[in-house]
Amino acid sequence: MIYLDNTATTPLCEEAKAGIAEALDVFGNPSSLHRMGLNAQLMVDDARKTIASTLKTTPDCIFFTSCATESNNTAIFGTAATYGRRKKKIVISGIEHPSAARCADRLESDGFEVVRIMPDENGIISADDIVSAVDEKTCLVSCMLVNNENGYILPIPAAFSAIKRKYPDVILHCDAVQGFLKIPFNAKTLNADLISISGHKIFAPKGVGVLYVRKGVRIAPLILGGNQEKGLRSGTENVILINSLKRAVEAYSGDIEKRFEKATALKRQLLSIIDDIDGAYCHTSDNHSPYIISITVENIKSETLLHFLEEREIYVSSGSACSKGKKSDILKAFRYSDKALDSTVRVSITADTTTEELETLCREIINAKESLCKIRGY
Ligand code: PMP
Repeated sequence: MIYLDNTATTPLCEEAKAGIAEALDVFGNPSSLHRMGLNAQLMVDDARKTIASTLKTTPDCIFFTSCATESNNTAIFGTAATYGRRKKKIVISGIEHPSAARCADRLESDGFEVVRIMPDENGIISADDIVSAVDEKTCLVSCMLVNNENGYILPIPAAFSAIKRKYPDVILHCDAVQGFLKIPFNAKTLNADLISISGHKIFAPKGVGVLYVRKGVRIAPLILGGNQEKGLRSGTENVILINSLKRAVEAYSGDIEKRFEKATALKRQLLSIIDDIDGAYCHTSDNHSPYIISITVENIKSETLLHFLEEREIYVSSGSACSKGKKSDILKAFRYSDKALDSTVRVSITADTTTEELETLCREIINAKESLCKIRGY
């Protein structure tokens, strides 16, 4: 089996599995005042410390959520509720994940002005494009670090630093789901007030996420109840998943640069083989994450190629797992031609993907071209 859909989700690493096992019997409620509760609370707080130190911040800035979708919703709606009473403008990139984009749509229908920054004709969003859209009416800027469909890396540190200098009161949110532990950054270098992270993209389980909230930033909670997570996210903490996330973060927070280099070398190898396949090409550049490679194979529909590869136990994605076969508005925004939109797959690797796996993928793409295009007479 060759798994090349790590942007959709990753398998659990051994450390994350061990993290589940060691938390199974820590069943106390972290809010209980007795020792059983305290043990659970200590486990959650320990995870908070690990994630804080990876982001080079303090544990009081780390809030656990159920997923990055919840983190993004909390960041956007929470900011709008607190800071958007008088300042009714939001700046967001036009290539966000639906968990951020749909929040902006909702706020727009509630009366906010929403400015969406689109890639230019070369598929680039510059820091200046983002900064120049911000003004004194703006309460929130929300931009992802790495696009999940084609790996494009947005210039967040430059854009956010410039905005902070000009408009220190604007709240800056970054969906860093596809960058965390893959691209070197921390809360300081990103210069964001709010950062969303997901467990299942970094070898931890589904159902656990993080929202970083810079000290002094007050956003309204989405979920009300027993005031867990200092009232920002009520609901009994999922101790097992949080401990598992901690173990995965410990396992992958070192050597980010080394793994980045490995992934870059793998991407280069893949590009050079794809380059030799007639009618196949990659949409990528040095501004793209090495972990996500968008490949067009002309005259074969994305889903057809996906299932052809699946029959040979190679797993890739057609566009993004979230768009489930629909033509991607995000890739459209990146100016993919109509033909390319129908014929693009996303290959997403880890630093442990092997050259042999990528060679097998390319061999099977050639096979797909030969057998499928012959049938259709291309
Ligand atoms: N943002 C990005 C960039 C993503 O890729 C994803 C997952 N596809 C999410 C947010 C949502 O994450 P989760 O599945 O944890 O809700």
